[in-house]
Amino acid sequence: MSTTIQLTANPTENVSRKVSAGRNFRISNGKAVTLFLSLVILSGCKRRQLTTPSPQMDIEPQFWVKVLLLDKAEACTLKIASSFSITDDPNLQTQLPTARFDQIDAPISIRLINGEITIGGRPFMNDEVIIFPDEPYIFKLNGDAYRGKLKLIINPDGGTFDAINLVPPDAYLAGVVGAEMPSYWEPEALKAQAIAARTYCFYIKKQFGGNHTWDMKKTAAHQVYRGVSAESNQIWDAVNQTKGQVLVCKQTDGTEDIFPAYYSSTCGGHTENSKNVFGDSFEPLIGVPCPYCRNVARPKFFFWPMIQFDNTYVINRLLRRYPNLKQLGEITNFSPAAQSNYTEFSRLTKVELSGSSGKSDFLRAEDFRLAIDPSGRKLRSTICQIVKWGEKWAFLSGRGWGHGVGMCQCGAEGMARQGKNAKQILSYYYPDSKIISVY
Ligand SMILES: [Zn+2]
Repeated sequence: MSTTIQLTANPTENVSRKVSAGRNFRISNGKAVTLFLSLVILSGCKRRQLTTPSPQMDIEPQFWVKVLLLDKAEACTLKIASSFSITDDPNLQTQLPTARFDQIDAPISIRLINGEITIGGRPFMNDEVIIFPDEPYIFKLNGDAYRGKLKLIINPDGGTFDAINLVPPDAYLAGVVGAEMPSYWEPEALKAQAIAARTYCFYIKKQFGGNHTWDMKKTAAHQVYRGVSAESNQIWDAVNQTKGQVLVCKQTDGTEDIFPAYYSSTCGGHTENSKNVFGDSFEPLIGVPCPYCRNVARPKFFFWPMIQFDNTYVINRLLRRYPNLKQLGEITNFSPAAQSNYTEFSRLTKVELSGSSGKSDFLRAEDFRLAIDPSGRKLRSTICQIVKWGEKWAFLSGRGWGHGVGMCQCGAEGMARQGKNAKQILSYYYPDSKIISVY
């Protein structure tokens, strides 16, 4: 009988969870497995310190998540605490190294010189290069640590390159969950976040991954990814304990499939129908009352302070994002064109923009908000009133933070504090969805 065991990512997992179908260690009898694990655990976990909390990086995952770390960069710095390989094999299939490097203490400069990717002074002929760190499979790019591989691709402009992190899904999720929620939050809230983030990632990859050399941005435009610095034992527990789990719902053709499991920080009291915010329509995204976030979000985040912007600033921002609005002439007014009304408040969903030409046009309120404040940190939601004050626009009576669609993150924490588990949290915020395992 052959038994295969594998050290998994989390040091706090119990021994029985470590027996799985990997191929790190092959030991021919069960007693040896137990003895080996006991020795590892009792001997101060020396071996595990090397790999912990490293995910199963030596096994090719079903697929890599491709995260855009640098967009149109001209130079960057790389630091790798292990030896590493580089390949510029044009088909990138064989992964045979073109170059091997021993561990180097100094940062390595990456630049384009004469149109060639040059790493530590060594030029590579192909437009695409992949850097593979050895164990523990971590590299630092401009000071930030990430797991997996680093792919560099020269852009069609010839003068810049993109840096893309190829990372196994669970290592990616650890870097997301820990960036999206504090690791001291309730374990069930962290697990709900892990499942929602996995579902969202797989959906975006499936829908749009073919259009780019990458799947996900590392910002809130998709979901925030901070790599190794976001990780902790609690975060790895949430990722490992929900391994492979995603949400599905009935699609219009009657089949069951994943959907964009959006989530946002604080809904303000009621989540919003995705149709009104992103224009897509899925049964679990119709919006539900949320009595849970109010006690979790700090008051200054639940109710946000009035914010004012100069009229010129607002107009310039809108025209930069939506040049077609120039046909309105000088934009003279904004007015609410549609809103969702709830018991205590209304969420603006559509804004009418009127111009000196006599024409008017409409924007979704969320698009209007992010055109004016792309970070969303000042103009935090569309639950607000818009008032013109002289040469300024004021946004007041603000409430909530984020687009409000799908799971309310503070609400998930509120439910978990009341004893609800991840499954209950997810079926509350995504009604008519269910959890399935895909790996
Ligand atoms: Zn809420």
